Amino acid sequence: MIALGLTEVAEAVGGTLTGPDATVSGKVTVDSRTAGAGDLYVALPGERVDGHDYVAAAVAAGAVGAISTRPHDGAAVVVVDDPVEALGRLAHAVHERLPDLVTVGITGSSGKTSTKDLLGQVLGTAGPTVSPPGSFNNDIGLPLTVLTADGSTRFLVLEMGARGIRHIARLCGVARPDVGVVLNVGSAHLGEFGSADAIAVAKGELAEAATGTAVLNADDARVRGMADRATAAVLLTGTTADADVRATDVELDDAARASFTLHAQGEQHPVALQVVGAHQVANALSAAGAALAAGLGPAQVAAGLSAAVVQSRWRMEVTRRPDGVVVVNDAYNANPESMRAALAAVRGMTGALGTAGTRRIAVLGAMGELGTDAESEHARLGVDAAAAVDLVVAVGPDAAAIAAAREESVHVPDRAAARQLLAEVLRPGDVVLVKASRSYGLELLAADLIDDG
Ligand code: ATP
Ligand code: MG
Repeated sequence: MIALGLTEVAEAVGGTLTGPDATVSGKVTVDSRTAGAGDLYVALPGERVDGHDYVAAAVAAGAVGAISTRPHDGAAVVVVDDPVEALGRLAHAVHERLPDLVTVGITGSSGKTSTKDLLGQVLGTAGPTVSPPGSFNNDIGLPLTVLTADGSTRFLVLEMGARGIRHIARLCGVARPDVGVVLNVGSAHLGEFGSADAIAVAKGELAEAATGTAVLNADDARVRGMADRATAAVLLTGTTADADVRATDVELDDAARASFTLHAQGEQHPVALQVVGAHQVANALSAAGAALAAGLGPAQVAAGLSAAVVQSRWRMEVTRRPDGVVVVNDAYNANPESMRAALAAVRGMTGALGTAGTRRIAVLGAMGELGTDAESEHARLGVDAAAAVDLVVAVGPDAAAIAAAREESVHVPDRAAARQLLAEVLRPGDVVLVKASRSYGLELLAADLIDDG
């Protein structure tokens, strides 16, 4: 972060400094365990722990002060009503002091983190870039990301999530993006929004907020429609002839990695992705659009995309066991679209024994937050999954409808039962996909399956 005095912090967040002034020369952290010399600690009210209890620990670790709802003996505290809002305001103030920064915001129902990681690596070839691995897309993670930028940063890539109308607008108020990227409108968080059209209204707030370019996926009708709401230039990405940034000749190799020809600014360049799955083509085009809008040239973008690797964990992480079984850990999260994207990717993968010897197995947990559509969405997924792979194993009570859709599919009650079943079933030549919504923790099963090899 840029160095700031605590009085400046208090001014930026509309709080009151209690205790002596000091300079924040380190980072801003919400976890006292990561606090170090010169840091500013923000005490958040958590679900399980109360950040206020750790002000002393943060100061003992070297923090020069804290943002909190109450003063604290022996610590310089900026007292505020709402520490989360204060975090946003502080990030806003810091962002305002970095006018030369090119800020890119990315939203969409699926692929935000994947696209951020691609874009971060592409921009990184042109200058210092802040684009942290992981999924920091809410009103805590986004300000914390902004606050890691400083005067040497040239590009800032922000993931923006929405669980309701005005959420994206609020995040854009923290750090107004020069470039706004909208990937797709799917059914993630459908339960909270009520309809896909409502999701489109929320995601389109990014197209409205972008000051330079709105990068829109023309292959998604709802996203394409956001062009009408854009206040700045529109750049369309996709496979349609009218897209400004386009892919042709898309091919998948036997590890389900896509290659294609990138068309942009009248040039054509080959791209060979290292990340897995056909869905990464759309993400790569969106990243390309953003990088071009940020000033990079098509050749550099194509080379950067081809060099980019998986940075954030549990997203199509491919591990080959010593016995030849391939485990694909995509357990970071799941919704109907990302389930189908992962199934399609695995369907295109060849195992250790070649095409004829490949058996594909999908080990699927439930998808959360689907509201009243949950039962039917799980049943529909069960049908599509059974058609895509050789065996479907549904894990956990909430996933029962996935297996119920097809007689040959198997339902097991929990991770341990899934592990036991797979120990009996798996053999060299198999490709096994593990995927569910975050709360089901199937990455632990993926780790167990890798250990069992
Ligand atoms: P979250 O809302 O949980 O932060 P996200 O939008 O950041 O999710 P990613 O973490 O990039 O999404 O991807 C999650 C999963 O979604 C991937 O592992 C993959 O299965 C799938 N996915 C990624 N990109 C796309 C896409 N463009 N279309 C459909 N599915 C996708
Ligand atoms: Mg994410």
